[in-house]
Formats: sequence, structure tokens, C-alpha cells
Amino acid sequence: MRRVNKRAIVVVYKRESYKEFESLVKEAGYEIVGIVYLRRFTSRGISDYKINEIKSLMESTGAENVIFDTQLKPNYIYNIAKELGVEPKDRLEIILEIFKMHSPSKEADLQIKLASLQIELARAKERVKLAKLGEQPALVLGPGEYEVDVYYNEVKRRIQNIKAKLEEERKKRELHREYRRKRGFRTISIAGYTSSGKTTLFNALTGLNRRTGPEPFTTISTKFSIIKIGVWDIYLVDTIGFITDLPPFMINAFYSTLEEITYSDLVLLVVDVSEPYDYIKNKLEASYEILRKLNYNGNVVIVGNKIDVINNIEYLKPIESLFNSYSNYYIFISALKGINLDGLLEIIEDILGRGRYIKVRVSYSNPNWYNILDYLKRNSDREFSLSFENDSIIVEGLFNDRAIEYIKKNRIEVLEGLPHAEDMDIEAES
Ligand code: GDP
Ligand code: MG
Repeated sequence: MRRVNKRAIVVVYKRESYKEFESLVKEAGYEIVGIVYLRRFTSRGISDYKINEIKSLMESTGAENVIFDTQLKPNYIYNIAKELGVEPKDRLEIILEIFKMHSPSKEADLQIKLASLQIELARAKERVKLAKLGEQPALVLGPGEYEVDVYYNEVKRRIQNIKAKLEEERKKRELHREYRRKRGFRTISIAGYTSSGKTTLFNALTGLNRRTGPEPFTTISTKFSIIKIGVWDIYLVDTIGFITDLPPFMINAFYSTLEEITYSDLVLLVVDVSEPYDYIKNKLEASYEILRKLNYNGNVVIVGNKIDVINNIEYLKPIESLFNSYSNYYIFISALKGINLDGLLEIIEDILGRGRYIKVRVSYSNPNWYNILDYLKRNSDREFSLSFENDSIIVEGLFNDRAIEYIKKNRIEVLEGLPHAEDMDIEAES
């Protein structure tokens, strides 16, 4: 199989936002092998001079991708493609590629598809317009002259179909989440801007705490993992980077790739503290706005990442008070160097709740004994232990509140750590 060529020439038009664009391009998996600066677009796209500059860079580097840091008009795409022999990509297409890579669900897949079809629709419209002017281009971007109208309607029909399927998918996701909660999982999402260090933190936490034993979810991608923190089984999610400046038709796709955040028990909001203070401030504000739009009302731990590159501790003071004005929970770490990860785990345990020591007896005569043990294990810490007697199993360990509730509800015999069941009833009534 031919390896996909991911070498890219980027064409920079908006210099002030190049840094963000660069991380997006890398996030989408491209290797930037050349940069061309563009001052202006011409009425047809870009000047012959710039076309030649791009062409010769493509030849000398072997790049097969040309990526513009801005949104290209459909007729520009056509004109530039004709000159270069490859179709240029623009910022929106790169973002869509990233969405696809991070898509957490069928629903998000569909939202993303919907957004791509909307881009195609805009191009189809443009081709219809050109056809009417008698300028219909040859087959560069898809269907030919006579098919343009058919294609346009086909795309429209597909968009309708997708919209109908979305509701169905939403219901399925709901069930899946419900199942996870019933099994005692807590969901923690790692959120923040591109390049802040989310994936590095995800890998560090996963490496430290990977839960052993059979996994209940078979289709877990690299964006999810199951780890153990204190008494909790955690479903850890590495979310897509926050992106500002999206056109309206892409907002739904963006939010649906972040949907997991809405249903999280905790969000770790990663912030790159090596950036200038004003960047940090603006991004934090925008991040909270995104969380608000996602209807997330749970706890947020602001994780100031990359402290390994800060050599003056005084520098962190204003950043600390900024964090403090947003959340009671914040910490400075280095995900890369593993600095302060223990501190982060402590905060997470503080928020989710630490365990309480309990010893119970589960009788084999209970037809449910296996499920009970399984549930108790999931909701206890690593010290969980079993000892076997003739007719029952003695279970002890540190347990979380869910386990305690479960023990009460299922009237499991408590040997130590909780009042006896009869007393608990009285407690509940008084
Ligand atoms: P994401 O886009 O938020 O997932 O960010 P990544 O985890 O991919 O990290 C982006 C870049 O920042 C990579 O080059 C990482 O090596 C680097 N990085 C992540 N964490 C740290 C850190 O704690 N210190 C330093 N110096 N670099 C880091
Ligand atoms: Mg990442």
C-alpha cells in the first residue's frame, strides 16, 4: 500500500495567528516542510509569482500538500488546483480532519460529515454559478458540467438523511453513558487549547494508573482509557483542542466532538503556562465560555502545565491569582517531566471523594454474589481484599460513596465500618 504523503507546504496569510495554525496542522498529522508568506489574494486566487514559489518548494521538498491558513473561496480553490496539480487545503479542512481523528461517537461522525457536506455544497453552488456563466471548469474537483445540478441536490439530500440519523445516535450514546455510571465509573475529561499538553497528560496519567483486568468497553480508542485513582474507576478522555474562530456551520461538529465533557464528573482544564500572560488570560476566559456552552456545571481543575520551562517562580504569582479567580482547584505541573502529578491525583481524590474502610460479608446463597463482588471491587481502592469462608466471602477495603450506598441498598451484611443495617434504617428515618 502506498504511504500517504503528509509533507506539507503551508501558505501563511494571517501571520498573527500562525502559531495556532501550526499546531493545528501538526495535530492533523502533517509535517511542515516549507512556508510561503502571502500578502494578498488576487481576483482569481494568488499571483503566478506565488504559484511558482509554491511549485518549486513542492518539488524540492517532495511535499504533496499545500495548506492555507485561511478559508479559501471555492473559485480560488479551483484556480489554484489547476495551477498546482493538487487541490489546496484550507484551515477549515484541516480542522475537519482533526475532528474526524477525535470523533468520540457516531453522532460526532455525522455532525462532521454534515459540516464537510456543507463545504461541498458551497463548492457545488459555485460550480453551478460558473457553469451558468459558461465558465464551467473541467474535472478537477469532482463532477463535470452536466452533473453539477444533480450533485448539488444529492449533497442536499445526504444532509437531510444525516440530520434524521443524529437523533437516533444521541439516544444510543445516552444508554452507553448510563451503563458506565451504573458500573461505577467516573468520567474525567482532559480539555484545553491545542498544544497545551492534553495528550501528554493523558499518557502520563494512563501510564501511572492503568487499571488491570478485563475491559468492559471493547472499542476504546487512543482517546479513552480506564485508570484507577484512589477508590474510583476512571474513564479518562483526551478531548479535541479548543478552537476559536469557527464558522457557524462547523460549531455543531465542534461541540459534538466535545460532547463527552458535558457528561463528565470532572474536567482537567490544561493551560500552557509558558505562554504570555495575556494569552493565558484570554484562553482561560474562552475555555470557560466553551464549558458554559457545553452546559458543564461540574468541578474544574485548572492544570497549569509546562512549569519545567519556567525558571522564575515569581513569574507564576499573577497566573496563580488568575487561576484562583476561576476555580478553587488549580495546580502547576509538568506533564512531560512528571512534576507534581501526585499533587494532581490528590486534588482529584479530594473532589471525587476518598474512601471509607468497610468490611462486609457476602453469602454464596445470594444469587447475585458475583456481581456484588465485581461492583464492590470497582468502587474500592487497590487494597481491596477477599477472604473465603465455607458459605460466604469476607470483603474489606476502602470504599467510595457509591459502594456504601450499594451496600445499604442491597442489605449486605456489614461487619465493620458502618452501623448495622437495622441501625441504618433508624438513622435514615430520624
Ligand atoms: P495537546 O495538543 O494539548 O494534546 O498537546 P500535546 O500533549 O500534544 O503537547 C504539545 C507539545 O507540548 C508537545 O511538543 C509536548 O511535548 C509539549 N509538552 C507537553 N507537556 C509539556 C510539559 O510539561 N513541558 C514541556 N516543556 N513541554 C510539554
Ligand atoms: Mg492532543
